[in-house]
Amino acid sequence: MAATLETAKRPFNIDDMLHRIRQEVKQFADAAMFDLAERGYGTAFHQLVACIISVRTRDEVSLPTAIRLFEAAPTAEAVARMSVPQIAALIKPSSFYETKAYNIRDLAKRVAEEYGGDLPCDFEVMTSFRGVGPKCANLTLGIACGATEISVDIHVHRVTNRWGYVSGSTPDATRVALEKKLPRKYWVEINRLLVPFGKHVCTGRLPKCSVCPVLEYCRQIGVTEHR
Ligand code: SF4
Repeated sequence: MAATLETAKRPFNIDDMLHRIRQEVKQFADAAMFDLAERGYGTAFHQLVACIISVRTRDEVSLPTAIRLFEAAPTAEAVARMSVPQIAALIKPSSFYETKAYNIRDLAKRVAEEYGGDLPCDFEVMTSFRGVGPKCANLTLGIACGATEISVDIHVHRVTNRWGYVSGSTPDATRVALEKKLPRKYWVEINRLLVPFGKHVCTGRLPKCSVCPVLEYCRQIGVTEHR
């Protein structure tokens, strides 16, 4: 496959690159958090709880799991009225479900008691809950609050560094670099596009460079073997 690695590269055109990837990922399941929002669970509370459920759990599992919880208890008040074992039973397919159930009930109680049931669109408040890190807070801010924060998970980190579009040694360093370079109109969408792209095309091992829609732009940084 050396021939593709030697392909002449075009200057970055992020509009065209993301347009191509938008077409490419249509065939794959939407990223769970966006899918959830489109099903009517798009508030900050829903998104943050769903993100807790999704930690170390595949989208195929975390999405139906979050839906099952919200069908049983659609609001923060309703979740707060449930016991930890009840929540654990509903989210059981998710990994670490007992710890997550405890964290979710704690979060729901605080949202119900301190914020009248509406989780504020506030990074500091969100990350003050157990089980909520910057990635979940930023994704929730992006999807539920319309905030312009880039959520950089391992896929966004890997893909944008392989492109050579940014150079960040950690997801957080990549986020800082992207926020300097990526047009704001893509700050929310990039996660939605690159999560399925990273899972199915620009995979961790043996990325599918030979059929990749952005090969002519991608510098393939660090890619030594590919399909
Ligand atoms: S699959 Fe290959 S060509 Fe495509 S973005 Fe990933 S490293 Fe670049």
